[in-house]
Amino acid sequence: MKRQIAEILLVGTELLLGDIMDTNGKYLARELSDLGIDLYYQTVVGDNPKRLREAVNRALERSDVVISSGGLGPTCDDITRETFADALGLELKLHEPTVERLKSFFTSVGRKMTDNNMRQAMVPEGATVLTNDWGTAPGLYMKKDQKHAFLLPGPPRELEPMFRERVRPILFDMSDRKFVSDTLEVYGIGESALEEKLRDLMQGADPSLAPYAKDGEVLLRITSSGADVAEAKEKNRGMIQKVLERAGEYVYDINGESLQRALVERFSKKGLKIATAESLTGGLISKRITSVSGASAVFELGICSYSDRIKNKILSVSEASLEEYSAVSEAVAMEMAEGARRLSGADIAVSATGYAGPTGERVGLVYIGVSSSLSTRAVKLDTGRRTGEREYIRSLSASRAIAEALREAGLFSWENSCCK
Ligand code: ATP
Ligand code: MG
Repeated sequence: MKRQIAEILLVGTELLLGDIMDTNGKYLARELSDLGIDLYYQTVVGDNPKRLREAVNRALERSDVVISSGGLGPTCDDITRETFADALGLELKLHEPTVERLKSFFTSVGRKMTDNNMRQAMVPEGATVLTNDWGTAPGLYMKKDQKHAFLLPGPPRELEPMFRERVRPILFDMSDRKFVSDTLEVYGIGESALEEKLRDLMQGADPSLAPYAKDGEVLLRITSSGADVAEAKEKNRGMIQKVLERAGEYVYDINGESLQRALVERFSKKGLKIATAESLTGGLISKRITSVSGASAVFELGICSYSDRIKNKILSVSEASLEEYSAVSEAVAMEMAEGARRLSGADIAVSATGYAGPTGERVGLVYIGVSSSLSTRAVKLDTGRRTGEREYIRSLSASRAIAEALREAGLFSWENSCCK
């Protein structure tokens, strides 16, 4: 069978006006590549009937699989459903099960259903309704003459699960080769240095190995294809092994998500608690950790001690250190971490103090403090960043603090990964 060619159609005038940023295209593109489906085009088009019609026709002509996002709602500018049905020559009919679903949805949220909501229950003949458990507008799958069209609602919190649960299985079955992806999460080495170590492995196409850099971390994505999933998995395993042999010390997770997720999972498994004392990160370390579900099992205390007075009063950072070395120093970072650990009784406490800029002379200089019952230490982080990168400096600092907490607990390595 020839490889399927896909096109993504992003519908919405607000995308063209720059009112919202497209994330659906990015999400779908990644998913399609995981499935081994070639994506040739992403088209953005407004809610204009004529231009949408043109875009739909062109997409159906040049691509085998068309996935649209947006314009499935009840309002009059939501015209994706009608336009596709028209282009494929399919008549719209009222779909009773969808009417019932909509009715019970509106009853359950105590809202009155209006007539225009009924439009969402109009389904092209022969189309499959993709039930939407995350919102009201159902998705649609239409198939005609070897062309496959999937219509998905615009809101990402609906589109993403709809794709995962409803569309992906159909596309997966359509292809005779099965693709499997794994990720290795890497921290502590830059993208280019990592590439140097892995260059020859990155030349291959199947398995493929590709790096993605984000906020001082690198994600390595490995994808293989096989006659079945087991064969593709086996190929991935071989590649993972090679990467671990060359750069294993930097790999903190396999098929993980983030440093904070690794921390919450591993600390809670060991019954360890963490506390934070933050200056330049202003609570970012706490926010990252507590955004992981299950954080309550590990997170004891987070103090945002921005002023010297509070560093001294609450965290007991000594006046002498503040005066002699200033707030941005190894000594103060260590005393902040010690203070947070003492106050909370946590096993490990981390701190961050530094210059985020944009003004000042030493922008980008950061100290991370780490305190445990074994020792207290500080690491100097020269982010190499200058003015205008305040958020980036704060973000790098938070990542480093979380990585150091994992190291201190002896839990940084991928060998602690739950998904390996
Ligand atoms: P609804 O029933 O919510 O109206 P819909 O399928 O009609 O859903 P749209 O009206 O096109 O979708 O978009 C609804 C919202 O979804 C937009 O206001 C926007 O917040 C979000 N959205 C739409 N398209 C995208 C996109 N490509 N990327 C990210 N968000 C999007
Ligand atoms: Mg809408």
